[in-house]
Amino acid sequence: MSSTGPRISSALVIDDSGYLLDYFTVLLNAVGTYQVKTANNGRQALSILQDHPDIELLLCDINLPEMDGIEFLRHISAQSFAGEIIIVSSEHDRVIGSVIKLAREHELHILGVMKKPATLENLKSILSTSGHRVKSTVRVDNHVFTAEELHQAIGDKQFIAYFQPKVDIRSGKIIGAEALCRWRHPDMGIISPGAFIPCMENNGLIDELTDVMLGESIAFLESMQHSHSYFSVSINMPADYLTRLNFPDELHARVKDAGIRSSSVIIEITESRLIVDYKQALEIMVRLRLKGFGLSIDDFGTGYSSLEQLQNFPFQELKIDQAFVTGAINNLASQAIIESSVNLANKLDMKIVAEGVESRQDWDFVQEQGCDIVQGYFVAKPMSQIEFIAWLEQNKGYFDLGLPEQKKSSQEK
Ligand code: C2E
Ligand code: CA
Ligand code: CA
Repeated sequence: MSSTGPRISSALVIDDSGYLLDYFTVLLNAVGTYQVKTANNGRQALSILQDHPDIELLLCDINLPEMDGIEFLRHISAQSFAGEIIIVSSEHDRVIGSVIKLAREHELHILGVMKKPATLENLKSILSTSGHRVKSTVRVDNHVFTAEELHQAIGDKQFIAYFQPKVDIRSGKIIGAEALCRWRHPDMGIISPGAFIPCMENNGLIDELTDVMLGESIAFLESMQHSHSYFSVSINMPADYLTRLNFPDELHARVKDAGIRSSSVIIEITESRLIVDYKQALEIMVRLRLKGFGLSIDDFGTGYSSLEQLQNFPFQELKIDQAFVTGAINNLASQAIIESSVNLANKLDMKIVAEGVESRQDWDFVQEQGCDIVQGYFVAKPMSQIEFIAWLEQNKGYFDLGLPEQKKSSQEK
């Protein structure tokens, strides 16, 4: 197995065909997964998962008898399954696309799709991306943090911003970064936002966290403005900010105080959150735009925005969700979503960011499709501010793909 491969030691295969259960067991053994359990229906699979919470990977046919794949995904989400899922199916790509969308709504992690007949190569290629997901950050599965614990940690300045680069796909220029929150927990190490953001939201603490992130991002921009004046930082805006009518003024005052340009701050809003309070959201966004801030629609492809809705919002940037970008070359449904997102963004004159570019293949594919900006592990993982600056200096402001023509053009700039 390749060095980028996973260390998945236990898996569960769900398929109603005994032959395929054996076949997938052989494939999994071949990639080094020796503890393989099998189930030929959803009910049996649920009970195996309950008895074996350490199962890291599910290979799941979505056409199951009795309980279909969708129902099954809902159940495992309720059981808080935190492992990876590979969907196996002979269904039409659009059906599979809808399944992926639903799974994401249930906060499940779909690693990839294997169309039947699946091969060892398919499996290897999908698994080669899984090792990237956790790495140095810990996954605190199902841990519920208390409001006091979180509040205390905010007071103790344990939440910090990491920065992940955004690169111009044509020139390789590192044009900005997305600020992503990390919890530097004194006992547990670095914790990813997925483990604490929902708790923050439930406990009414998300505003405080956003405040921390804004502070860190503005400080970062301040430190960069002389050496890299073109640089921008993208900040994730939680849903309830779309109801805070004074937010544009507050943000404007902060940015002015720091002496940085409003246009170097990009506010990211996830697609699914737009529709909740349309009128107020629209007002806040128009005011942010009038004050010069950048606006980006995040996780595009996972919500239900229509063209009419989108064109009313003054977005300049559309971020295609990583679920459609990573490994797109092997997935027709993802390709269709990328293509239609690019068309839409072009019509509305928005820049297109491809998130989740993990390989050279992903990069080439999104470039071919007309994406403008790339963000993903292929360029770099999110880094602390100090690491980011060191990385930027080391790369002299350009991400080098190693192509002779790119080297030339980056030296010219
Ligand atoms: P997001 O806004 O979609 O951010 C992108 C996520 O994708 C980040 O995860 C990033 O580390 C990850 N990522 C980037 N490139 C790749 C790649 O090539 N492959 C894979 N598999 N993943 C990649 P992270 O940092 O764990 O953040 C998860 C989510 O938590 C974010 O998704 C965002 O919704 C939320 N979040 C993070 N920081 C904040 C914050 O400060 N405020 C709010 N409200 N939400 C935040
Ligand atoms: Ca984001
Ligand atoms: Ca995103």
